[in-house]
Amino acid sequence: MGKDRKLYLVVPCYNEQEVLPETSRRLREKMTALMEQKRISEESRVLFVDDGSKDNTWGLIYSLCLSSPLFAGLKLSRNRGHQNALLAGLMEAGKRADCVISLDADLQDDVDAIDRFLDENDKGADVVYGVRSSRKKDSAFKRLTAEGFYRFMQAMGVDIVFNHADYRLLSRRALDALAQYKEVNLFLRGIVPLIGFQSATVAYERQERFAGKSKYPLRKMLAFAFDGITSFSVKPIRLICTLGFCIFAVSLLVLIYLLLLKLFGQTVTGWTSLIATVCLFGGLQMLCLGILGEYVGKTYQEVKARPRYIVDQYVQFPDAGASEKADNI
Ligand code: UDP
Ligand code: MG
Repeated sequence: MGKDRKLYLVVPCYNEQEVLPETSRRLREKMTALMEQKRISEESRVLFVDDGSKDNTWGLIYSLCLSSPLFAGLKLSRNRGHQNALLAGLMEAGKRADCVISLDADLQDDVDAIDRFLDENDKGADVVYGVRSSRKKDSAFKRLTAEGFYRFMQAMGVDIVFNHADYRLLSRRALDALAQYKEVNLFLRGIVPLIGFQSATVAYERQERFAGKSKYPLRKMLAFAFDGITSFSVKPIRLICTLGFCIFAVSLLVLIYLLLLKLFGQTVTGWTSLIATVCLFGGLQMLCLGILGEYVGKTYQEVKARPRYIVDQYVQFPDAGASEKADNI
């Protein structure tokens, strides 16, 4: 492949004005080095996706695009969340690239691992997963919750790569396959392993976010985990069924016991336990209904097949940076 390989880096950005200047500098450095080594084509690009930011993120992306043809920008019409923004970028880049690498705007994903991603791509991998070698830089809480999440997902039967977030390389072929997944509840980490093709993993050290705040507070993380499970696994429903069956069996025994009590004329003493049982079952039924409702809700959304994102504009100037004027904007 080498110098003919058009590589696009896809970087979703939500309110990232603090990190963009440094991120773009580092990515430009990396891409230039790779071009000089003839590992990627001169037409390779860095595509920033603005996920409906409220700060000056789009302004910065736009001026980056004006300053150099290396940069491209994609602006979503509103905030659609990390996964949708990433998908938008991947699909847009897929129209032009031979392979794409997705990474976070805060450079927590070590940029130098890109060389090893390309090595694996040279060896024929269509999918290369970036896997964190350690989580030393994460807070104890983040580490515990994140690793617990991966274990829980695996226990739920979801095929997921341990400690792999969304730092990955996808070939054009893999992107075409990804485009065939039409689901609205996006959980890319679960979909990509379903695609198949030859894959490889590359270990890297996860850095701390160098500026700005995390856009994934606990609330969003929990919602993301819940989405991941209910979008990929029917195990919760099976567990509920098993639980329901066990409770039913126990309640039959309790019923026999209550009948015996009645026979011996001691019904009043059973009142407390009876009420307790009614409450317990009422609660359990509600829980079961809730979980079933979650799946029904998802089916509803999938049936509607709403677009997952709407592109506002795509910019890339072939002659950008050529004139003084453009540099000053
Ligand atoms: N992000 C996004 N849309 C959102 C939330 C986050 O595009 O609604 C982007 C964000 O700009 C960053 C990436 O997703 O590039 C990961 O977010 P962040 O670094 O805040 O998450 P953390 O690393 O703390 O889990
Ligand atoms: Mg981050």
